[in-house]
Order: sequence, then structure tokens, then C-alpha cells
Amino acid sequence: MYCIRCGAKTESIIPLLDNRLRDVCPSCQYIHYVNPNNIVGVIASYEGKVLLCKRNTEPRMNYWTVPAGFMENGETLLEGAQREAMEEVGIQPLPSNLFMIYSVPHISQVHFYFHCKLKDTSTAMGDEINDIMFADYDEVPWDDLAFNSIKVLLKKFFEVGDKKAGNLFFNLSSLD
Ligand SMILES: [Zn+2]
Repeated sequence: MYCIRCGAKTESIIPLLDNRLRDVCPSCQYIHYVNPNNIVGVIASYEGKVLLCKRNTEPRMNYWTVPAGFMENGETLLEGAQREAMEEVGIQPLPSNLFMIYSVPHISQVHFYFHCKLKDTSTAMGDEINDIMFADYDEVPWDDLAFNSIKVLLKKFFEVGDKKAGNLFFNLSSLD
């Protein structure tokens, strides 16, 4: 690869005091660290039903998930979750509690989901979504969820219920 600072070709070396290979610029010495990405999303509920949306993009196109996406530079976790919720399903989650955090180490991601209660069921579909539903436990398309982590997230939500979703749950195991 080429240095993002000066454009010189980088070398893969273990920098001094480090213990992993990094792409290091021999010209300006810049070290290109690659660290996990943050995924921010919302588990939005209305009268105990959860808002699910169907992915209109790969991977896992046409499978169900909750509004979520990559956090951007310069925003907080909550701002990122609110932005994704607005972009994907047109809802404006109020400041709310962080509901679950978990790691997906095999793709180097950390996920943060906020719980928010909606005042009504009005939504607006963004380009990355092709269907929206509000589901209670029995209505969730459990076999058509996009990721195993979404299954864990939804199971936990229905386990604790709408009212106690203000509690925070850490899932310290690896999810996929
Ligand atoms: Zn450089």
C-alpha cells in the first residue's frame, strides 16, 4: 500500500516497541494502524414490537436486521445510531440507553445498540432497505435474520422486555 500522508510505498514491519506487523512508511515513518470498526444501531420498539428492516444490500441482502451501520468520524455513539436510524428507516430515536455491546472479532467490529421507544409506527425507507416490519417474538423471522448477532440481540430484548430495556447488557463472547 501507499502512505496516506506522503504517498510513498509502505513496508510491512514490526515497529519498535510493537509486536505486530504494520504498514510503515519508510519516508515519513507514519504507521498505518488498522483497528476495529464501530457499528452503531438501534433496537426500536413500539408497544413491545421491534422494528426490523430488510437489507437491500450485500452481504445478506433480503435478510432481516435492525437499523445499524458504521460509525463516522466526528460523531458520538448515539449520534451515529440516530443517523443510521434516520437514513435507513426514517425514525428519530430520542436519546436513550445503550442496550447491548458485543465484539465480532473475526471481522474486527464492535457493535453498540441503543434501545429507543417509538411514539408511533411511522417510518420512511432508505435506499439500503427494502422492507420494514414491527414484530413481536412470534412474528420475528428467526430463520431469516441477517446475522447471528441480531438473533442474540433480539432474544435478549424479548427476554427482558420493553420496560427493562434500559439496562445494559454486555455480551463478551464472540458473535457472528
Ligand atoms: Zn509517508
